[in-house]
Amino acid sequence: MTSVFITGTPGVGKTTLASRLNGRLIKINDVAISHGFVMGVDEKKGYKVIDTEKLSAYICGVCEKSDELMIFEGHLTHLCDGADIVIVLRISPEVLEKRLLMRNYSPSKIRENLEAEAMGICTAESLEKYPDRTHEIDITGLTVDETAKIAENIIHNGECYPPGEVDFMEWLLK
Ligand code: ADP
Ligand code: MG
Repeated sequence: MTSVFITGTPGVGKTTLASRLNGRLIKINDVAISHGFVMGVDEKKGYKVIDTEKLSAYICGVCEKSDELMIFEGHLTHLCDGADIVIVLRISPEVLEKRLLMRNYSPSKIRENLEAEAMGICTAESLEKYPDRTHEIDITGLTVDETAKIAENIIHNGECYPPGEVDFMEWLLK
């Protein structure tokens, strides 16, 4: 069965999109916590360090047993094994900043995530692991419906959104 990974910088809209798609949704951050795949906490940054090897094994196990379309959502999905399609969501750092300010993130965590988005880290990492199946969508200014339609076209109609079109590097100079 097809497995789709939805990834992108925190706040970009992964959970919102994934919840709108048909298919069985698995939020990998929840799985990591409930299955004990958290190896520790990065004291300096306050992040949970998640064992992507264990997550990979979990994902592949689920896919083997499933005959449904599987949607795996989370900002670490693209580091895991088992994807048929990876969709990286991108959004302008200006819009992302507004969303992250509404979360209880420290200024340094916000800055780090905005820089990651500006540099396209998730896309670069996904391309490294999945050079032939990574799609990238700039959802800046799109509604959830519009985003869902694009994702459905990728998943069901084989449309391609090859990475490389989206460029928020200029934000770093501001
Ligand atoms: P993530 O799971 O990537 O951290 P969320 O799905 O939680 O991000 O979305 C973060 C915020 O952005 C939410 O308040 C959500 O309502 C909003 N949002 C997500 N996608 C869109 C969209 N396409 N258009 C407008 N707002 C969106
Ligand atoms: Mg989320």
